[in-house]
Amino acid sequence: MKKYIMALDAGTTSNRCILFDWRGRVCSVAQREFAQYFPHPGWVEHDAEELWQSMLSVAREAQNRLGARFDEIAAIGITNQRETSIVWERETGQPICNAIVWQCRRTADYAEELKQRGLTEEIQRKTGLRIDPYFSATKLHWILNHVPGAQARAESGELMFGTVDSWLIYKLSGRRVHATDYSNASRTMLFNITTLCWDRDILRELNIPEGILPETRPSCGFFGESDPEFFGGAIPIAGVAGDQQCALFGQTCFEEGQAKNTYGTGCFMLMNTGEQPVFSRHGLLTTIAWGFNGRVNYALEGSVYAAGAAIQWLRDELQLLDSVEDSEYFATRVEDTNGCYVVPAFTGLGAPYWDPYARGMITGLTRGVNKYHIIRATLESLAFQTYDVLRAMVQDCGIELRSLRVDGGASRNNFLMQFQSDIMNREIVRPACVETTAMGASYLAGLAVGFWKSQQEIRGIWEQNRIFTPNMEEAERERELSGWNQAIKAVFGWARA
Ligand code: ADP
Repeated sequence: MKKYIMALDAGTTSNRCILFDWRGRVCSVAQREFAQYFPHPGWVEHDAEELWQSMLSVAREAQNRLGARFDEIAAIGITNQRETSIVWERETGQPICNAIVWQCRRTADYAEELKQRGLTEEIQRKTGLRIDPYFSATKLHWILNHVPGAQARAESGELMFGTVDSWLIYKLSGRRVHATDYSNASRTMLFNITTLCWDRDILRELNIPEGILPETRPSCGFFGESDPEFFGGAIPIAGVAGDQQCALFGQTCFEEGQAKNTYGTGCFMLMNTGEQPVFSRHGLLTTIAWGFNGRVNYALEGSVYAAGAAIQWLRDELQLLDSVEDSEYFATRVEDTNGCYVVPAFTGLGAPYWDPYARGMITGLTRGVNKYHIIRATLESLAFQTYDVLRAMVQDCGIELRSLRVDGGASRNNFLMQFQSDIMNREIVRPACVETTAMGASYLAGLAVGFWKSQQEIRGIWEQNRIFTPNMEEAERERELSGWNQAIKAVFGWARA
């Protein structure tokens, strides 16, 4: 009797395993943090072997805690921190250096060089991405050029490259399978998202031999089996997708025009744009949402760098709060922000502005502004930034979004969710289970093996916790937005001077 799906959630700071039952309930969880390495300013690395060992140990812990036998687990789903790049030896399975993490900026100069070579337009058209050190391509190029002998060994077929999903599939399958899914491939800046092939022209430009790359597959389908030694017997690995794409799937945004926003340290908004990629004219990324049932769904993606981080700043630097949860109570002690706006552009602005030189600012200060106004204005800044990304999405794809699904730590803040609904003039839907990333991976794996029969069936078990409906006069909304637009203009280019 198959009772559970095992979701492996490989995050940036910790690995987690959750066992879900057919109703989508969390039956068992285990989580472990792993080390972050910062060998130089702006560099971020993980030890790939440690990532694997820690994932295996949390998976076994979650299994043992529930006393689940391997044959009660219908399938394994994997979701992961995206873009992080690992190269290992085909012969031994040993990584040749630490994993280069998505946050790492070491390849900024090389990314700049690619722009100088005039590749921006071609890369956006083929991969949907902007040239940036964030994506895997320049990280893989760096490894091949800086680890002694790596380029030659890659050319003679001795090395394998993978993102974290690919590395976990390889290890989990007892080193039998070297594969990734379309959603993760679409974050490498090497994958043609229209032809669904590694792009030979881009590979040539970056001097990357195709043989080092994993095979690419749909996100929902059979990838291989776990080595029987790990869980007492073999379990099929049947669902794989990047974390943000899994959150979109876990929020059951299966249809064109549905969108979710994750309010964590930053915000990640993705909109399902259906079976055609929409190439952005407003600073968003085009990416593959998932490959499912012989089709590919695309998404537009926009991210906000500082969201929940701004609430932590109120707590840690300004010391206006003892806990981030208190922000809700304080914000509702006042009627409004008294004309004050906080723009938390601590590390510049992401979509749709892309200004690395912008810096944070508190504007509109008058003598009556107190700490409650500043706390409220900081919470409101998450909603304004989200609104800006949403507006860019609607302009790019012309789809009118009716409601937005939310998750992530700060989505628990009711004041913020109501204000978000007011400012966007749209419904906000918060699910009962905010573990949407792991849920998405389990849905993909469960659908592949028939644990769930259809997306329709999944919609039936998905539960909402609360709906927020807009409740703000249009004139007030316009006043709020025009104040925000004025505030954001004030921060552009600040650090360039
Ligand atoms: P991540 O996965 O990026 O670490 P989480 O989804 O765990 O993020 O969310 C943590 C973030 O959410 C923190 O930045 C924190 O400040 C913010 N946060 C958590 N709870 C609240 C709350 N009740 N109100 C406002 N912000 C919150």
